[in-house]
Amino acid sequence: MRVTLLGTGAADGWPNPWCTCGSCADSRRRGELRRPTSALVDGTLLLDLAPAPPPDGISLAGVHTVLVTHDHADHCAPLALLARQWVRRTQPLTVVGPSPVPTMLRPWLGPDDPVDLVAVEPGGTLHRAGYRIRALAAEHEVPTVLYDVTGPDGARLLYATDTGPLPARTVEAARGAAYDVVLLEETFGDVTDHDTGHLDLHTFPDQLARLRTAGAVTGGTDVVAVHLGHHNPPAAVLAERLAGLGARLVPDGATVEARPGQATLRPGA
Ligand SMILES: [Zn+2]
Ligand SMILES: [Zn+2]
Ligand SMILES: [Zn+2]
Repeated sequence: MRVTLLGTGAADGWPNPWCTCGSCADSRRRGELRRPTSALVDGTLLLDLAPAPPPDGISLAGVHTVLVTHDHADHCAPLALLARQWVRRTQPLTVVGPSPVPTMLRPWLGPDDPVDLVAVEPGGTLHRAGYRIRALAAEHEVPTVLYDVTGPDGARLLYATDTGPLPARTVEAARGAAYDVVLLEETFGDVTDHDTGHLDLHTFPDQLARLRTAGAVTGGTDVVAVHLGHHNPPAAVLAERLAGLGARLVPDGATVEARPGQATLRPGA
């Protein structure tokens, strides 16, 4: 399984184009842009419909399924589907998401658009072109699901944005999963009084610990922090702090190779 990060930023991206804070100034100085979070699996499965076009050289033409986490504007941008309509793609496309997602996208489809909108609920499972897709519960302001995706090669990915501390039933559902790759949101950095359905540098390590105890994250799991906002310290500092937690940063456009069995369940984990 090849997981390409199309975006690793929060809703406003990082840097926020309107902001003059030190963290945004640092990103700008280094020419680093983090688009709203979205990922492409094996060129065929798209996680979230971000409002920004993908990084240089990445095409969405091979996508047959889109998994949308929720209907917030940084994850469910109708313009992304409109752009597809304008090139008159005739291949079928399935777009999956909690019920507000089909409701929001339906008015944007053309009468002959070969797009199938499918509502999913936490606990639901779908099978698409050799992929097993499970929707897990999130803790967010609107109906939201996280996606647990197993590829035809057996590699397994957890896409976990946008969410606050994980619901107990989600940790339970992930028990023993030994994910090869986990994309876990970490929106707020050192701001901990945000009072939102997001994680920060205080709650992120707690979720990783819970996932480790459940055998969902193991020594072989590649944990990548996503949905990063400018409340985080500058990237070099953040990378160091994440490394101490067993997680990492990757730039937009990076591809993470997930090999099945890379993450092996340690005895007693
Ligand atoms: Zn978001
Ligand atoms: Zn800023
Ligand atoms: Zn959201």
